[in-house]
Amino acid sequence: MVHFVGAGPGAPDLITLRGAALLKAADVVIYAGSLVNPALLARCKDGCEVYNSATMTLPEVLAVMETAEAARKTVVRLHTGDPALYGAIREQIDALAAKGVNYDVTPGVSSLFGAAAALGAEFTLPGVSQSLIVTRLAGRTAVPEGEKLRELARHGASMAIFLSAGMLDGVQSELLAGGLSANTPAAIVYKATWPDEKVARCTVGTLAKAGAAEGITKTALVFVGGFLDAPYEKSKLYDPAFTTEYRRGSGGEIAYLSFTERGRALAEMLRAALGGEVACTCDGVKLKDWTAAHFPSARALVYVGAAGIAVRAVAPHLVSKTSDPAVLAVDEGGQFVIPIASGHLGGANALSREIAKITGGVAAVTTATDVNGVFAVDDWARTQGCAVVHAEQIKAVSGKLLAGEPIAVHSAYPIGGEPPASVTLTESDMPDVWVDIRPHDDLTVVPRTLTLGVGCRRDTTRDILETRFAAFCDAAGILPQAIGAAATIDLKANEPGLLAFCANHGWKLETYPAAELSAVQGEFTASDFVAETTGVDNVCERAAVLASGGTLISRKFAGDGVTFALAERPARLNWGEDNG
Ligand code: SAH
Repeated sequence: MVHFVGAGPGAPDLITLRGAALLKAADVVIYAGSLVNPALLARCKDGCEVYNSATMTLPEVLAVMETAEAARKTVVRLHTGDPALYGAIREQIDALAAKGVNYDVTPGVSSLFGAAAALGAEFTLPGVSQSLIVTRLAGRTAVPEGEKLRELARHGASMAIFLSAGMLDGVQSELLAGGLSANTPAAIVYKATWPDEKVARCTVGTLAKAGAAEGITKTALVFVGGFLDAPYEKSKLYDPAFTTEYRRGSGGEIAYLSFTERGRALAEMLRAALGGEVACTCDGVKLKDWTAAHFPSARALVYVGAAGIAVRAVAPHLVSKTSDPAVLAVDEGGQFVIPIASGHLGGANALSREIAKITGGVAAVTTATDVNGVFAVDDWARTQGCAVVHAEQIKAVSGKLLAGEPIAVHSAYPIGGEPPASVTLTESDMPDVWVDIRPHDDLTVVPRTLTLGVGCRRDTTRDILETRFAAFCDAAGILPQAIGAAATIDLKANEPGLLAFCANHGWKLETYPAAELSAVQGEFTASDFVAETTGVDNVCERAAVLASGGTLISRKFAGDGVTFALAERPARLNWGEDNG
């Protein structure tokens, strides 16, 4: 019997349990010496015959297998990563089958995943790409015509390129020829999970340079795609989490619809720079269906075509500027970029300027405050990462500003920089605008400075969490929009009700082990019961403080098996564009 076994990417403890057991039982081991970590051979039993296939031909490998089989010995053929990727197992399997030799295959952790782990990367980021292309540059082994790197690059999907570290120049020029922008994020991972692992993050335009700088010429994977984008680069575009009041929260990406090949090319160029996904009616996509599918979840809908088409398509879906996505039209030459709806809160104006910069065109911004160079409260709120409550009053406030009257702002927080000339700060209880985390009857700009600490019994439903949360916000006197994240103990990391609750509010859920929670300094509401079941005397207060790095502002609020607490970090607001 011959067992093909995946050895994993390098680290000897990344072989599977089954693979390790087979290695231990083997009478003969043939390992791919160029890439398999020899440390794995320590698992072999005494007297095991070991061959390094790096110095053998295929007939030699097969001869060793057949001799072993004739002597009823067990053979392990140890391949790097997972044998199904560039493992050349098929030719061995076919030869064994022809001789009537039994075999089986044990999968392994591919270097693909070892390298992704080194980067902490996810290939399938919603809104960025939902596909991974695994490929290589042609070398001694040819690559079929339709799979040339430049052809595959056109998809804009996440890519993992094997066996090409010695040809980074070629990789770079193929990717560029396939239409990827030089700024597309890329990374080279050398010897993932080995002690001498190296990671070089770069872009498509700097691949060859980055490889040369690190001296990488082999045993490396090249990754390409928006999934590698560092989050801080993202936040420079305006963060999708900031675009609306709260439901769209953690939300969507930019969705582009084009109507011609030329339009598609423009959309692809924008996607390469700004992320998102591109569709074209030339592929049979229907305007109506596409709009219905993307309107509820996308951050922006960009129609590469006539403004009238965009207006008719979105009209039945428009609800309110606090919840609608940005809607834009851009002509297929990129000359005019027209924000059609949700200019301020939805970010359509800012996005139109961003796009115009890329196409070299003009952003046709028509909102009155912009045209008159007047301060726009909703636009300012968005740049500060704040939510807006009572948005129906924006019109009245902007109206005052447009009429040349100043507006009074009562802020619970210091705001850096100089306020615009038209804004006066006030301590009065009747301002035009509040900046606060507490509810008021007037237009309120809400900094997202709070972290919600949560504890809950196992299998607590989302409905119970929502009901208790509403009661908690009332009792604590805070706006739910002021919460930017949630935190709990790691035991609850997979509670379905809690995850659904957090997803509904667009919050990331941070989780911590009991020991880390116990180490948090401060005075917390201790409970023997909680200590007994979780190993720490309080979960919600400690988790909130630990995740926010700030101070506790609302203590444990308990009921129905749910506990909530709130911690606040200082708000950092600025009258300028930059919210630091
Ligand atoms: N079956 C293997 C791939 C074998 S082909 C797997 O699943 O990983 C050999 C190529 O794999 C190398 O040229 C390199 O591109 C990649 N590779 C193998 N081990 C690697 C590692 N530890 N780090 C980065 N790339 C690796």
